Amino acid sequence: MIDISKIRSDFPILSRKVYGKPLVYLDNAATTQKPKCVVDKIEKMYFTLNANIHRGVHYLSQQATEAHEAARITIQKFIGAKSSNEIIFTRGTTESINLVASTYCREFCKPNDEIIVSAMEHHSNIVPWQLQEDITGVKLQVIPINDRQELIVEEFKKKINVRTKLVSITHVSNALGTLNDVNEIIKIAHAHGIPVLIDAAQSVQHMPIDVQKMDCDFLVFSGHKAYGPTGMGVLYGKEEWLNKLPPYHGGGEMISSVSFEKTTFNELPFKFEAGTPDFVGSSALATALDYISNIGLDNIARYEQELLEYATEQLLTIDGLKIYGTSPHKNSVVSFLINDIHHYDMGMMLDKMGIAVRTGHHCAQPLMDIMKVEGTVRASFSFYNTKEEVDSLVAGIKRVVSMF
Ligand code: PMP
Repeated sequence: MIDISKIRSDFPILSRKVYGKPLVYLDNAATTQKPKCVVDKIEKMYFTLNANIHRGVHYLSQQATEAHEAARITIQKFIGAKSSNEIIFTRGTTESINLVASTYCREFCKPNDEIIVSAMEHHSNIVPWQLQEDITGVKLQVIPINDRQELIVEEFKKKINVRTKLVSITHVSNALGTLNDVNEIIKIAHAHGIPVLIDAAQSVQHMPIDVQKMDCDFLVFSGHKAYGPTGMGVLYGKEEWLNKLPPYHGGGEMISSVSFEKTTFNELPFKFEAGTPDFVGSSALATALDYISNIGLDNIARYEQELLEYATEQLLTIDGLKIYGTSPHKNSVVSFLINDIHHYDMGMMLDKMGIAVRTGHHCAQPLMDIMKVEGTVRASFSFYNTKEEVDSLVAGIKRVVSMF
């Protein structure tokens, strides 16, 4: 069970007002708010054990190193990875995908090899692969969507051929909320010996994830969307894959020995963590993941599903409102337009009522082109949101509609 008033009191920002109105924060897919324990952790790290890690023999350095490596183990357990060597700290989902795109294509791809993505990917899961088109000559193949904005799995099967080198797919679409059947995608890809990367930026904070059960080869997510700090993210990769990939960034920490003649590289996970690691960020992310684990990912999933169903029902009572993303399998996001009211106008006017939603293309311009819209209004939910807030959203939209 979710104790909403207790949970809300953990997030100081939720009790602030904007334009004199209570804040209704429904932009959780962009970033989540932070519980006090996460900010306290950041303060504690800087005030009590700030030191550069891995290098120092002194007490503070050792403690900071221990905190960073303990955070890695927390994250390993959170996603059910086999080994903490499989957890690489990055700056976020975007950097994690760039790391894989760059190193994987360099090592395994030749001109005209193919990477399969889907029509509903975030730009972060399109552009890193496009950059590789210029460098290594790989080509993108795109799984289309049906009119409920779900992946067409039969079309995915047809795209697989001897040139297919990797499949990179989002678990939950940030623009639609569509929850993809990644287990099936992975099974199909693996039957052809093709590895799969899962973009879990919109799933890891909403449902229990077990990378070993899922059997994905790579999985990526951002700390700031999972109640943790900004600028901190995770790349999970099966050890066998990470061992085969070349380093991404060069610098301190990722080396074993350096000479002008020959440099050798460190072991996992350090091979991919050049430079001073963000040990404050990693510790704060671990605190955030512990916080949501304590609430329980099953409880979170159940509660957020109820909120999504309630919001969908209530929104559909508004004349002319069209939802984009009508799959029965969805998570935490509802994207919509109303008649010819511009999404930007809707967002601006809701904002004046204290309601924060996102408007625009949601970094998914190819998807918007397919749906023949410039953008949508998106409300995205967290376990700290309430049905009363959904009611405020619906009332706010009705007011905007009445003004047009
Ligand atoms: N993928 C998805 C599905 C996302 O929702 C986002 C963030 N909107 C990203 C990738 C990029 O995340 P970040 O900007 O934190 O790297």
